[in-house]
Amino acid sequence: MHRLNNPPGPYKILISACLLGERVRYDAKINKIEDKLIDSWLQQGILLSVCPEVCGGLATPRPAAEIQSDGSIKTQAGQDVSNAFTTGAEKTLRLALENNIKVAILTEKSPSCGSSQIYNGNFDRTLISGQGVTTQLLRRHGIKVFNQFQLAQVQNYLDDL
Ligand code: SF4
Repeated sequence: MHRLNNPPGPYKILISACLLGERVRYDAKINKIEDKLIDSWLQQGILLSVCPEVCGGLATPRPAAEIQSDGSIKTQAGQDVSNAFTTGAEKTLRLALENNIKVAILTEKSPSCGSSQIYNGNFDRTLISGQGVTTQLLRRHGIKVFNQFQLAQVQNYLDDL
């Protein structure tokens, strides 16, 4: 059950900046999600937005990149951008730990933020089971990561903390 008028304790929610409409995506498109839970969390001031790739020093727009079978992250032209992605993940983790974050909402399919599906590394739009590098790092540190289609589950998780 949603308790919109009952803020979930002191906990903030880490959220992919692109989901709040910030122009940080690789293609510079706006990808804002509209949902009453997002509105409620914004009103409560508990959303903390971050874009791991921008934190890692990458520009907007930037070439699309995908996780390769060897774990590296490359653009379609073959540029290895693993260091930027790793740096972004580490900065995001630091931000999360500094803010006592227990739960995150990250954008599905992204090589940084995906939490159950990512592209297969061949740039042919084929999805496979997997998670982005930031999601992996946050989960290794005990932070629960949901995607943008699981907002009710996020509220339930917060309610139970
Ligand atoms: S890295 Fe994450 S927050 Fe940044 S644009 Fe990609 S999906 Fe959105």
